Amino acid sequence: MNHIIKGIIDSSIDLLYPKHCVSCDKVLLKIEKEMGFCKACAKKIKLVGPNYCMTCGVPVNENEEYCSTCQNTKHYFDQTKAIFRYTGDMKDAMYRFKYANRRCYGKTFAWHAMKIYGNWIKGMDFDVIIPVPMYEKKKRKRGYNQAEVFAKRLSEVSGIPVDNEVVRRKIDTVAMKQLNRLKRKKNLLKAFTMVKNDVQFRKVLIVDDIYTTGSTLDEVARVLKDGGVKEVYGLCICTGQLK
Ligand SMILES: [Zn+2]
Ligand SMILES: [Zn+2]
Repeated sequence: MNHIIKGIIDSSIDLLYPKHCVSCDKVLLKIEKEMGFCKACAKKIKLVGPNYCMTCGVPVNENEEYCSTCQNTKHYFDQTKAIFRYTGDMKDAMYRFKYANRRCYGKTFAWHAMKIYGNWIKGMDFDVIIPVPMYEKKKRKRGYNQAEVFAKRLSEVSGIPVDNEVVRRKIDTVAMKQLNRLKRKKNLLKAFTMVKNDVQFRKVLIVDDIYTTGSTLDEVARVLKDGGVKEVYGLCICTGQLK
């Protein structure tokens, strides 16, 4: 298909809310579209909830302030939050969002981000939203970067601008899931670079799809802070289970 035509079709489809439930893929009723979940799934969605680690955002027990990892680890980001728990149907949803062109989910995720963390997002007075970049070749092959899609939607509802250019991924960090924490860290070193040194961002919100060990966010945060950014926060669509 002609690239321009494909672009026009893609962007017009992109403007619409999801037609199918983000969780179970059932066709949504009109009133369910804004929320993105069918009535049955809306009751079952596993949000992170009010008890989360004050550093990395993973769910913790009621009287805990930090997860066991953050009690012993220093992060480069100042704080990260997440919306949903990466479990059950959300795993399938994230798969479709990443690999099956369900870019429309971005609108749903941004809607929930504002519903839950809207006051925080607005109150923090972020200068810019920066999505975790994808290796350029990989992005061309896949067609889009899901973190960019989420960033764009979040920008629309929050009014905070997006910058997709300031951080670039130099190395394709392949099959990260199979690596342990130490190897991931090693692999990630030098994976990102800040390409514009004339930027004067003071407070940045990095967004990504899934928070696992936090090493990706840490590396992006480190690069930004080396480049003069004072405070770096994160917002992920999903996060791992209770640690
Ligand atoms: Zn559903
Ligand atoms: Zn933590």
